[in-house]
Amino acid sequence: MGLWVYKEMKELLKRYTFYLIRWQLSTPLLAVCVYLLTKNLGPTLTTIIANFIGGLIFFWVDQWIFKKTDILFTGELWEVKNNIVCQDCNKQTDRGYRLIRGVHYDKSRDKTPQFRCHDCSRKKYTEYKTKLEK
Ligand SMILES: [Zn+2]
Repeated sequence: MGLWVYKEMKELLKRYTFYLIRWQLSTPLLAVCVYLLTKNLGPTLTTIIANFIGGLIFFWVDQWIFKKTDILFTGELWEVKNNIVCQDCNKQTDRGYRLIRGVHYDKSRDKTPQFRCHDCSRKKYTEYKTKLEK
């Protein structure tokens, strides 16, 4: 249990560091705008223009980053479905579960989502957590 928390904290810190580095990418843009525009336009208008240009660029950069990484995603997302047949034990059950997203795990675009009964879901989740610890 303690190891899970440690791994997840480590993962969060890694993402946070990456995010802070990404944030610094706008520094050169801001510096150039401040250098060129502040004298003529003043600090407020310069900041508005710099943020506008930054928005034009980083909309695409961030979209790419968020697609490639889970930088801002730190939790788990589950789906619960009624009346399913368990993927593993074929038991009919009134409630099925599947993990959609987790750390290094993304089945959000899965075209054939697999649901499991409570017991099988718990078993698979334990395997997933064990894999994360390695
Ligand atoms: Zn099952």
